[in-house]
Amino acid sequence: MKDSAQKDYIRVTRSTLPDYDEYCKEIKKFWDNRWLTNMGEEHQLFQKQLEEYLQCPYVQLHANGHLALENAIRAMDFPIESEVITTPFTFASTTHAIIRNGLVPVFCDIRLEDYTLDPELLESFITDKTVAILPVHVYGNICQVERIQEIADQYGLKVIYDAAHTFGETYQGIPVVNFGDVSILSFHATKVFHTLEGGAVCTFDEKIAGYTYCLKNFGIIGLENVILPGGNAKMNEFQAAMGICNLRHVEQDIAKRKIRYEYYQKQLRNANGIRIPEVQKKVESNYSYFPILLEGRGSTVRDEVYDILQQHGIEARKYFYPLTSQYACYTDQTFVVDSKTPIAESVAQKILTLPLFPDLSMEDIERICQIILHRIK
Ligand SMILES: *Cc1c(COP(=O)(O)O)cnc(C)c1O
Repeated sequence: MKDSAQKDYIRVTRSTLPDYDEYCKEIKKFWDNRWLTNMGEEHQLFQKQLEEYLQCPYVQLHANGHLALENAIRAMDFPIESEVITTPFTFASTTHAIIRNGLVPVFCDIRLEDYTLDPELLESFITDKTVAILPVHVYGNICQVERIQEIADQYGLKVIYDAAHTFGETYQGIPVVNFGDVSILSFHATKVFHTLEGGAVCTFDEKIAGYTYCLKNFGIIGLENVILPGGNAKMNEFQAAMGICNLRHVEQDIAKRKIRYEYYQKQLRNANGIRIPEVQKKVESNYSYFPILLEGRGSTVRDEVYDILQQHGIEARKYFYPLTSQYACYTDQTFVVDSKTPIAESVAQKILTLPLFPDLSMEDIERICQIILHRIK
């Protein structure tokens, strides 16, 4: 049995980094003038580059994706205890951000095809307390954006996308952050594109952009003018410098991911009892994750494959398991509106995310697939 400290242990992901010298050259720009944070030159430059890259007029850089999401929600000024329809098949951040804004998450089930929120169920959850829909583009699978917008428009609801997984993706040629009223990105070290830690609020709405700017900087808009009780969620210069460097290489990184993603597909395509991901139609993918769905009773097969891979020194992730609606901190049902989400429950028991990163070797992919195929035969 190999343990995670061993050199040949294969992690589920491995952060990309620019050349050491490239990063040094970038941070040298502010090393001497010592402007290290508070929206310095690197921050401003990186913001401008992203607004161009994402074809989005307002990108507000944040210290991390979670604070970007909290601030995006807060900028909507919803009355406390309003309801937000969302998915339990996501990372902790999504549900926590709703709760931490004093709002109530209402859990809607997902589609089996792509694990995103099922818009056909949405209407049954809408009450006079509903103010927003907060779907997640899971693994970079794009939500049913047109249908969701249609329902939101019909009922006067806001749409806030957790787009943490989607950097570099387009749908019908449009960068994915441009759907809904606001989207957030995560630039965490484990994501396709990163700034060590980091995130952004992306919107076409100048008011939301201005509001999130204040929220991330204590509500300070002038030396002697503080207009609201904001927090601190600023991205610093070292983070921005990492973003500027990584942005130069992200297309190449995605191309490398694509080769590995397709190699997994080829190896696993004809196996029984296993569902492999497919890139959606009209989507330019970023190939961020390779989640397989292992059929079988409950979670037995998935858990066995997870254990066997672990024994071979390969880290897979039960991502997302458990559902956020089943977290210990949410068992007190006064917090959340409980509802049945049978598809999400079943997927959470069967899903397993395999290692995928730009410099994962093809031999390692072969080995991982051999182990899986041998088990499910
Ligand atoms: C990573 C992630 C976040 C949070 O981003 P951080 O940058 O880690 O704070 C939010 N939602 C989803 C779905 C994520 O995967």
